[in-house]
Amino acid sequence: MLIKQLPPQLINQIAAGEVIERPASAVKELVENSLDAGATQILIEIEEGGSRLIRVTDNGLGIAKVDLELALSRHATSKIGSLHDLESVLSFGFRGEALPSMSSVSRLTLTSRQESDNAGWSVKADGTEKELDPVPTAHPIGTCVELRDLFYNTPARRKFLKTEKTEFGHIETVLKRMALSRFDTGFNLRHNQRQIMDLKPALSNAEKSERVGLLCGDGFVHESLEVDVANGDLGLQGWVGLPTYSRSQADMQFFYVNGRLIRDKLINHAVRLAYQDVLFHGRHPVYVLYLSIDPRLVDVNAHPAKLEVRFRESKAVHDFVYRRIKQLLTDVRPSDHHAVKT
Ligand code: ADP
Ligand code: MG
Repeated sequence: MLIKQLPPQLINQIAAGEVIERPASAVKELVENSLDAGATQILIEIEEGGSRLIRVTDNGLGIAKVDLELALSRHATSKIGSLHDLESVLSFGFRGEALPSMSSVSRLTLTSRQESDNAGWSVKADGTEKELDPVPTAHPIGTCVELRDLFYNTPARRKFLKTEKTEFGHIETVLKRMALSRFDTGFNLRHNQRQIMDLKPALSNAEKSERVGLLCGDGFVHESLEVDVANGDLGLQGWVGLPTYSRSQADMQFFYVNGRLIRDKLINHAVRLAYQDVLFHGRHPVYVLYLSIDPRLVDVNAHPAKLEVRFRESKAVHDFVYRRIKQLLTDVRPSDHHAVKT
C-alpha cells in the first residue's frame, strides 16, 4: 500500500461526516455562530426539511471582507488563539470546522457586512467550485449563510435523511433548546415560507416565563419552582417542576452549563436523586436548569456534536445540584404550591 496525502476536499468531507450528521446539525452550528457573533435577532429559513435550503441570517458583528475566505478554511477561528484561551472558552465554537465542513457537502454562500462597511460582501463554495474573491452584495449589518442541497455530493449521507417532517422536527428541537438558553435573542423560524416560531427577545421575567411557557408548556410554568442559588464558584438557576408535574418520559429535561446544553450522567443522577422521594416510580421530572461555573473547571472540548462535558470537580458539582434541588422540593409542601408561585 502506498501512503498518500488526502486532498483537502476529501479531508473536509470526512470532517463533515462527524460535525454535520443531518440538517439539524448544520442549523445548530450556524445558529451557534450567530450567537457567538452577538446576534440579538436570528432568522432561520428552511425548505424541504433542510435538504433543499438552510439559510441563517443574523444581526451580529459580521465578518471582515478580508476574513471571508479564511472563515471557510479549516481550523481557522476568531474565537481562540492559544491553549490558554481554550481552557476558559465561553463561545460555542472554537474549532473552525463547521463552515469548511458545510461548504464541502453543500452549495454554500456566505454574505456578511460589518458596521464599518458600506456594503456586504459575499463568497461561495460548493465542494469543488469556489468563488473566494468577495463580490459586493447589498446586505444589512450581520451575516447570512445559505446552504443549498445539503449532501448533494455525498449520496450515502443523503440517502440516510429521513422524511421532510422528521428532519424538520429535529431542527425545531435544536432551536427550542437554544431559545431556552438565550432569552436575550429573538428567533424566527420558517419552513417552506411558513412562519413556525417567532420568539421576540425576552428580557423581563414575565417575558422569560412566557417563552418558557411556549417552549415547555404553560402547565410547567405554573407548576414549577424557581431556582436561584449559588455557592462560591457555582450558581444554579432556572425552574424545576413540582412532583405533580412529572412526565412518563424523560423528554423535558434541559440542563445548561454556561449556556451550553449538555447531557451528563452525573447531572442526571443528581437530579433524579433529588426527586427520588417525591416522584412515583416510572415518572420523570421536568426541569430547565442553568449551571454557571468557572469555565476553567469544566472541559467542553469533547466531541463537537456530542453534548458531553467533563467537570474537574465532579463530586462537588453533583452534590451542589442534588442538595439544592432536594432542599427546594422538601421545603414546598402541597398546600404551599400557590404561595410559592408569584
Ligand atoms: P468556529 O465557530 O469554531 O470558530 P466556524 O467554521 O463555525 O468555526 O466559523 C469560522 C469563523 O467564521 C468563526 O470563528 C467566526 O470568526 C466566523 N463566523 C462564522 N459565522 C459567523 C457569523 N454568523 N457572524 C460572524 N462571524 C462568523
Ligand atoms: Mg462555529
